[in-house]
Amino acid sequence: MTTDTPKFPAASWQQASEAFRLAAESTRLRSPASFDQWFSGIQLDGIEGRTLSLAARDEFVRDWVKDHFLPDLLDAMRAHLGGDATPALEVRWRISGDLPAPVSDQRRSTPPPSRTRPSEAPSVPRPRIVSPARAQFLEQLNPKHTFSNFVVGPSNELAYAAALASAGGGRPRYNPLFIAGGTGLGKTHLMHAIAHQVLADRPDTRVVYVSAEQFTNAFIEALQHHKMDEFRARYRAQCDLLLVDDIQFLAGREQTQEEFFHTFNALHDADRLIVVTSDKYPQQLQRMPERLVSRFGSGLVADIQVPQLETRVAIVRKKAALEGIGLSDEVAVLLAQGIASNVRELEGALIRLAAKASLTQRPIDLEFVRAEMALVTPRHPDVMSVQDIQSAVCSHFRLSNSELLSKDRHKSVAFARQVAMYVCRQRLKCSFPELGRAFGNRDHTTVMSAVRRVETLRHIDPQVNAHLEAIEQKLASSEE
Ligand code: ADP
Ligand code: MG
Repeated sequence: MTTDTPKFPAASWQQASEAFRLAAESTRLRSPASFDQWFSGIQLDGIEGRTLSLAARDEFVRDWVKDHFLPDLLDAMRAHLGGDATPALEVRWRISGDLPAPVSDQRRSTPPPSRTRPSEAPSVPRPRIVSPARAQFLEQLNPKHTFSNFVVGPSNELAYAAALASAGGGRPRYNPLFIAGGTGLGKTHLMHAIAHQVLADRPDTRVVYVSAEQFTNAFIEALQHHKMDEFRARYRAQCDLLLVDDIQFLAGREQTQEEFFHTFNALHDADRLIVVTSDKYPQQLQRMPERLVSRFGSGLVADIQVPQLETRVAIVRKKAALEGIGLSDEVAVLLAQGIASNVRELEGALIRLAAKASLTQRPIDLEFVRAEMALVTPRHPDVMSVQDIQSAVCSHFRLSNSELLSKDRHKSVAFARQVAMYVCRQRLKCSFPELGRAFGNRDHTTVMSAVRRVETLRHIDPQVNAHLEAIEQKLASSEE
């Protein structure tokens, strides 16, 4: 700080802490419950010149307070310290894991660590501290997975809008909300965003967020230890909003499915919202009982598709800004072109590049990124292969490659397979025996009839045509 920085008139620790206390109280009046919850993790360290030093228990608390309360708090504090004539305050944050453990709303009796005069310990209200259970819950949520950090584009706008609406409270309009989409496309992000939003707006809401795997494990443990009453209380009576991630994990787990079915009904009957994510549409979920599948489809099914190039570029830019990585537009486009099908991979590539650039002290320029990308991503083959088409079809129908090539005769899998054979035949002009080999050693007559069937269907069934067009679009964007 330079010597000519304007200073507050006589901002002693005593005055600063009193101003902080008053400012905190006036800010608190606007949203007492939420304020108390979040301010439990904040402490005033001191004030020097016009820089206010605050400590936060963790980044999550810091970001929350920054986003939700800080402007009001700073305005109020400035008013207490001398009104409009006083310069704007700046804030320096510090993370301090040793801020008080959640206990009660009693005020701190010990001075903050950086203070040397215990007698002047501030009487700032130590807002009520989150309960251990709540703290543990918050730990599960990624603080960066908020609505404002989610980039919306044509591939995910329905899921985004539905998630946002479902965080709004009141009687759920669609129940359940079922978010379907391939891996790494933002399902978990949206779910966390719902939880963050609900807890910010209505902190008393009892939100339960679990992966289907955690639900299964908790269920098994409750059974083993005769704690089913507790288990049911947690997921039914004591739950206002249930968020279940990756429901496809319940495939084939009949007892857990049964329990989940009753959980679902209890919440649904009580008008409590249930949000489920899955890597497949309800009808494509395998080894899932029909009654669950039909319930999953009974609210709103919102899907997330692979984002188009523009959205991917916007995602790269957003992530770079969030991580404080400087990136030119050309580099953002190059990255987004290089990694098309999975946002998680795109994000991973960006972080790796930034780390390597910083270690080797190089700028993240086009040359560097081109060289790095050549190392990690396979070159686009000049000619499209059967595998490329199979992958595009799998991603469209949310199947794994092995499912596509398996002997599975399930209607949806068989249809996807026929479509893939058809597209290969159309695009690559492969012979039928060649295609038979490429599709798990099937007979060439099987391929022939598949191709014929899809050819017929595409002229009479608009849905089939829509599938084919979407796949063509996918293939075209991977050729970019
Ligand atoms: P999924 O649960 O669908 O497998 P995630 O929600 O874990 O995917 O997303 C993977 C990563 O990609 C996360 O870091 C997430 O923040 C990011 N991501 C995905 N979609 C978007 C988006 N539209 N905007 C910003 N980040 C996104
Ligand atoms: Mg996920």
